[in-house]
Amino acid sequence: MNKLDKLNNLKDEISNDRNLPLYGTANLVFGEGDIDCAVLFIGEAPGAEEDRLVRPFVGRSGKLLDKMIESIGWKREQVYISNIVKRRPPDNRDPLPSEIEAYKPYLARQIEIINPRVIATLGRFSTNYFLPMAKITRDQGKLFKSANWRIFPLFHPAAVLRGTVPVNEYEASFKRLKMTVENEEKLFGPF
Ligand code: URA
Repeated sequence: MNKLDKLNNLKDEISNDRNLPLYGTANLVFGEGDIDCAVLFIGEAPGAEEDRLVRPFVGRSGKLLDKMIESIGWKREQVYISNIVKRRPPDNRDPLPSEIEAYKPYLARQIEIINPRVIATLGRFSTNYFLPMAKITRDQGKLFKSANWRIFPLFHPAAVLRGTVPVNEYEASFKRLKMTVENEEKLFGPF
């Protein structure tokens, strides 16, 4: 079975899992992008706009993410974008630990299938999924290893929109992500 078939099967499995929290309350936002990407971005959970359009990161945070991706000369279409929790928690609240736990095995399988070279985690929830001891303010913009994966934590774009993180600092971290991916390519060949 090829990657696309495997991902489509996984998506069907998630959409049919009635035991998952948020089942029946919101659309399943599985993820999108190049399934042969070098970089997989992982956020927290869809928001209202993502639920409406059934696509990840298409609201205000998504627009900023697109801008950052373009600022380093990449295109959104060449990366893959997904979330830990794949349905919108009500009222834009943070995902609950029980929701993260429930969706975790599916995310793990999605990552295995995509097999990216680097996973860029957006915000503390997805960073702590891979690196439980990480502190986003201390560790963002650096490369870590967790199990089989190379993890590059980044602030969540919402932190920049709130004004907690200066936009030039955010841009600098994306530049470091690009350098990291290019270094990986030098070491391991083009992706
Ligand atoms: N915030 C996220 O973490 N994910 C989205 O898809 C949108 C906003």
